[in-house]
Amino acid sequence: MIQLDDITKRYGSKVILNGVTEKIETGEFFVILGPSGAGKSTLLKVFAGIEKLDKGKIIVDGKDITNLPPEKRNVAMVFQNYALYPNMSVYDNIAFPLKVRRLSKNKIDEKVRNVAKLLGISDILNMNVTKISGGQQQRVAIARAIVREPSFYLLDEPLSNLDARVRFVARGELKRIQKELNGTFIYVTHDQKEAMSLADRVAVLHNGNFEQVGKPMDLYEFPKTRWIGEFIGDFPMNFLPGKELGLEEGIEIGFRPEWIKEGGELKGTVESVEVLGENVYAFCTVKDYRITILVRKTVDVGDEITFGVTKFRKFRDGKLLE
Ligand code: ADP
Repeated sequence: MIQLDDITKRYGSKVILNGVTEKIETGEFFVILGPSGAGKSTLLKVFAGIEKLDKGKIIVDGKDITNLPPEKRNVAMVFQNYALYPNMSVYDNIAFPLKVRRLSKNKIDEKVRNVAKLLGISDILNMNVTKISGGQQQRVAIARAIVREPSFYLLDEPLSNLDARVRFVARGELKRIQKELNGTFIYVTHDQKEAMSLADRVAVLHNGNFEQVGKPMDLYEFPKTRWIGEFIGDFPMNFLPGKELGLEEGIEIGFRPEWIKEGGELKGTVESVEVLGENVYAFCTVKDYRITILVRKTVDVGDEITFGVTKFRKFRDGKLLE
């Protein structure tokens, strides 16, 4: 288990991490999600030991590693701009960290072949890394990082260089590899879709702290704050003053585009339409508010739609009411 205790990091007078505290279980796929500039990479560097803390502790399996240098931490890192050794074969790239550790030739061979099998790159071991595809290079980088059997893995947007179609497959593979290794993965991304599809738990980093930590579906269903409701989901959660539904002043209601039914107390004008296969999303104005709803029939710009809300959450001052 990894414990983060009051992790605090400043650059000059700017507070980037403001007392982050959380426990990450062994074998967990833990995704840190936040917009650009939230401090995700900084937090990852703190894990790796590349950045020093101003305050706080990191405890791994009961051992305080806060002041250990990076090379003593036994962590694997896979970054967006992975650098493979260009003049070496796939095999030698993966074997490199083991050679540095002076493992025997036989042991190295066994480990390289095992990890290559896990990543599905056994057939390209003898190729030069400059002669293989981007997706394959990505796997080699992951193989090289995991071959050392580290105590945990740090991944900083490792799939962002892949095009959308390959990325979808790569996500599935990464998840499979993580489960097979029973590895503790700490994965950073700004892409909520990626976070939702990979994570056992997502931690949303905002204003220097984890604003919410939870299972993907819990974040979607019960965002702790309006900000998270709007950040998570393919479309932001919709918000309306509670009085539009006969609730008291000061309450806001939040609802997802699909938490609605045809016919009801709300009336909107369609401003634009997005067709995603069978799902048609209509962007409407309801009085002065912009609302996105999922409709089951074709609608046109300018149409008037009446609808009701089948499920909603209550918020006050931007915070979810229990
Ligand atoms: P993210 O990974 O979420 O995009 P970063 O951790 O890279 O965010 O950066 C968080 C904030 O810290 C940004 O405002 C960035 O400009 C600032 N920052 C990052 N590294 C340094 C540094 N070495 N010195 C000063 N400011 C930095």
